[in-house]
Parts: sequence; C-alpha cells; structure tokens
Amino acid sequence: MRKNTKTTNVKSDLFFIKEALKEAKKSLKKSEVPIGSVIVNKGKIISKAHNLMETLNDATAHAEIIAIRKASKKTNNWRLNNSIIYSTIEPCKMCYSVIEKSRIERVVYGCASLENNFVKPQAVNSQIINSPELEKVCRNIIQDFFIQTRTKGVEMTVKTKKSSKEKRNADRRKGSDKRWIGGNSPSFDRRKSDRRMGERREKK
Ligand SMILES: [Zn+2]
Repeated sequence: MRKNTKTTNVKSDLFFIKEALKEAKKSLKKSEVPIGSVIVNKGKIISKAHNLMETLNDATAHAEIIAIRKASKKTNNWRLNNSIIYSTIEPCKMCYSVIEKSRIERVVYGCASLENNFVKPQAVNSQIINSPELEKVCRNIIQDFFIQTRTKGVEMTVKTKKSSKEKRNADRRKGSDKRWIGGNSPSFDRRKSDRRMGERREKK
C-alpha cells in the first residue's frame, strides 16, 4: 500500500495543502464551511474545489467530490490512478468511498476530523500533513468559522427564518455537525447541549 515512497515529498505536500487552503478560503467568502481540496497527478494540479453544500443545496457537494468530478471531466476518465487528493480536513466517509472508487491512491489532509471512527478503504493511503503549523492553520479556519457562525446565530435566524428551520430539521436528522471539526463543538451542537443541560436542571 505504501509502495510510492516518492510521493511522501514533504515540500510538495505542504505546497498542495496550501493550495487546498486557498480553496477553503473561497468557501469562507460564500459563508460555506471552509474546506478545500486539490487533486494532483504527476506533480501537477488537475483540479481544485471547495465546499459548496449550501450554495448548491447539495449534500454531496463536498470539496473532495467536486474536485473528483472536475478531475474526471478534465482527464476524460473516471479512473484517477496515480493521483493524490489534498484536503484541508480529513475526508468524511462518503468522500473516502468516492476517493476509493475513483482509484485515487493517496490522501493527504490538513487536520483530523472527529468522524474518523469508520473503516477507511485499504486501497487508499491516507495521512495527515507532516507539518504541525499547517495542521493548525487548517484546523483554525474551520474552528473560527463555527465560532463566528455561533455569534452571528441570532442575526441569521431572523434573516433566514425558513431556511434555518429547514436546516435545524436536517441537522436533527443527520445528528450533528461535529464531524466537520476536530473536536470542538460548532453552533448546532452547542445549542443542543445547552438545551439538554437545561432539561437536566429542570428534572432536578
Ligand atoms: Zn466529504
């Protein structure tokens, strides 16, 4: 599985994670959870993408999935053998599955995700970026996003009453948003736990 030792080039990994970070910042400008991805083949970037779930109203519009679609279109081939995907956060279960299906051989991610308690595809060589500084940058961009979303929470509920109600329902269905960030609770989780604490107090 770890046959391509050449690809463990720290310098180029750092370069490509930085490119993925530029993509994540594009998500941020669109008030999307800031996650970016790039796909590299033979040392060249063949596609770049950022998370667009809200913009496209599409649960599959994760940065990795969009990057895979773009790369397949560009190469006119769904098989992305010998390719590496760089993502600012460790891919979710859905993305890992599509990464495997598309035959991407290696995943390099900027920071860990909480939702890593699933069996990762064996065919995919996955590793965190070998740079604590860059790891921190990748983590902070997402954490800061959730902190800001939380403080803007009241304003947002007034402005987008309908959509936030729909969002709440969707969140209730899927569980929580904590999978997005490495351990820190985003707005929805915090609100839920506050509510639960309240209920506990009432029972006493
Ligand atoms: Zn994903």
